[in-house]
Amino acid sequence: DPDTYAVPASFAAALHAAGAGPYAVDALIRGEAKTGFVAVRPPGHHAERHQAMGFCLFNNIAVTASYLRREGHRVAIVDWDVHHGNGTQNSFWLEPDVLYVSLHEFPFYPGTGWLTETGVGEGAGATVNIPLPGGTSSDDYLAAFARIVVPVVRQFAPDWILVSAGYDAHVSDPLGGLCLESSDYRTMAGALVKIVPPQRIVAFLEGGYDLDALATSSQATVEGVLNGAQQFPWPSVIDGSAARIIDLVVEGVGRYWDLD
Ligand code: ZN
Repeated sequence: DPDTYAVPASFAAALHAAGAGPYAVDALIRGEAKTGFVAVRPPGHHAERHQAMGFCLFNNIAVTASYLRREGHRVAIVDWDVHHGNGTQNSFWLEPDVLYVSLHEFPFYPGTGWLTETGVGEGAGATVNIPLPGGTSSDDYLAAFARIVVPVVRQFAPDWILVSAGYDAHVSDPLGGLCLESSDYRTMAGALVKIVPPQRIVAFLEGGYDLDALATSSQATVEGVLNGAQQFPWPSVIDGSAARIIDLVVEGVGRYWDLD
């Protein structure tokens, strides 16, 4: 498209991006690294099996989740990019052993990710969408993360957590309309790392269009994985339109998972 046209070198770049996740997984298994942060372009979470979409050519995180599934692992994917990861959701829509949890602005590109989209068949309940209205505050976002994302991922009991780590939900981002601070990514990463065994979390760079926010938020994510959560208790005060959405998500997701 006009923003991100493909050139002959794009194919090689996309192959490297898609292969970087399995490379990170192998390095972690061999004990060669403490954490994996896949800092690649192009990103992946909008790419469908048969169609490039939304700056994405191949779905990097779905490739890695499939790689881990082939080895018999349970994989939880947490997507905190401001956009819904339609390609990732569709990749595992029927799959009970890959959990997909996304927090995203809604309504927004690509238009999917409403709270009633929870997977079908054996995959019912293994897709969780938290569609937040534009302007949702950092505190409300973190409250949703604590109330829904953390308990669902913990109950799913994954061997591995993969994070679609876009940073376009940052307050400084020119495309997104949410209000996260860089330190919030440290908080979220720190909470997730406590759920899986050591060296079993890999973050994949997705969107993020303010370069300073991208840098500080990426650093905060890696710090969170390495040091664990620093900021407790979680904010619990939820107000306005986000509160109603979060209650509705809890009601729907509560059919599959124990939520307070
Ligand atoms: Zn995005």
